[in-house]
Amino acid sequence: MSDKYEMTIGIECHVQLATKTKLFSGIDNDARDKEPNACVSPGDYAIPGTLPVLNEAAVGLAIRGGLALKGKVNLKSRFDRKHYFYPDLPGGYQRTQFFHPIIGEGEVVLPNGNRVGIHHAHLEEDAGKLTHFGDYSLVDLNRAGTPLIEIVSHPDIHSAEDARLFAEELWRLMTYSGACLGDLYHGNMRFDVNVSVAEKGAKELGIRTEIKNINSFRSIERAAAYEFERHVALIENGEAVKRETRGWNDATGKTTGQRSKETADDYLQFPDSDVPPLNLTKEYVDEIAAKMPKLPQDYRAVFREAGVADKTIETLLDHQVLAERLGQVLEITDMKITIKVANLFVGTLLAEENSGLNYRAASAERLAELAKMNEDGELSSTATKQVLVALYNKNNGEKLTKALAKEMNLLQENNDAALGAIIDEVLADKAAASAIADIKNGEQKAIGFLIGLIMKKSQGKANPGRARELLLKKIG
Ligand code: MN
Repeated sequence: MSDKYEMTIGIECHVQLATKTKLFSGIDNDARDKEPNACVSPGDYAIPGTLPVLNEAAVGLAIRGGLALKGKVNLKSRFDRKHYFYPDLPGGYQRTQFFHPIIGEGEVVLPNGNRVGIHHAHLEEDAGKLTHFGDYSLVDLNRAGTPLIEIVSHPDIHSAEDARLFAEELWRLMTYSGACLGDLYHGNMRFDVNVSVAEKGAKELGIRTEIKNINSFRSIERAAAYEFERHVALIENGEAVKRETRGWNDATGKTTGQRSKETADDYLQFPDSDVPPLNLTKEYVDEIAAKMPKLPQDYRAVFREAGVADKTIETLLDHQVLAERLGQVLEITDMKITIKVANLFVGTLLAEENSGLNYRAASAERLAELAKMNEDGELSSTATKQVLVALYNKNNGEKLTKALAKEMNLLQENNDAALGAIIDEVLADKAAASAIADIKNGEQKAIGFLIGLIMKKSQGKANPGRARELLLKKIG
């Protein structure tokens, strides 16, 4: 039934800018461990006579975020008042850029190649927070005045999976650019997902519903998939989809209606007379652009070219430091070594037991050395993983990889003379006699038994491949 229909999704995302202070005052912007209403300026209480002063750092971060979206930076933008009455907004209006946003058209390319247009991104202040207890509610204004950019996508997304991919890529773009700290648990990024459903090929979109305030990638995908099925069921039953705002419940896996939107909201927007228009110079924007770091899509392209598996790349890209490091490894070595380091990052360094290590600790040189030692048979794969973790131990930071491997007694025995002596000892032992006879009779299984003895005698340092070659030569 569902394949008769297509879903269309547009996403709005509120991104908390990583400034020290609020958008219009010098009050601390980080209220995570603070008492309610501890980080509040008279302006956040809307005390008459207070005046806003625009935070330049927020403007700079908004531009960085915009550039990461390949967005056009508008040299002229302006703040407006968006009026609504709600207890978390003492002034009765939110300062936001309604008519002239700072960032214009942009684009995000998903890992699967699909493109999502960005309509615009505007600067605005956050409202406070209400907590409801039975028949009363408490107001906390710590978050009031926090600088945000609201990113508004075009309705270019047509699957629940792409909705998640878009949100994940936005998170990377905002954190790589430094615009946002990306702490989803504390609501640093909040997604509103607009879903509509129509028959495939239909000229007009269906009635849309908006699922508000989702802050996990997985929930975005689940919520969009749920809404699609809900719309299809309504349409198939001949019922109308109601235009409304809905909430997502992670526990039940369902959306529920919150507020119907029979008519368009009327917020009575008009220019804020207290904040002068923002006039940027081209030089100011160019200076910021010159300092932009490499973005996920830049790394994705070079790592794919080097032959790193797509799944490995996407896992790595969630860690900007590791992406940066792998880029440096690629610059000083070849593709084979780079792929090995990428696999070590994902298979070992990002494994749960190693989480919490400082991913900056090991330099590209040390990592390349490690992969090369594994490549040359000087370290077994198990030993390579042990040395990798040791490289991230702060006491080993400056040591050469080889010295560290030696100190850990993990270097494989590749010296033929030394290895030959060990093999001779093993062969001379009575325990080996029947195995030697078996091998001479063509029983391959016995080779493994002898290699086991050699590994034991060498305390795990023999290179098993080379040991096998020498062993067979000696048995003849
Ligand atoms: Mn908004």
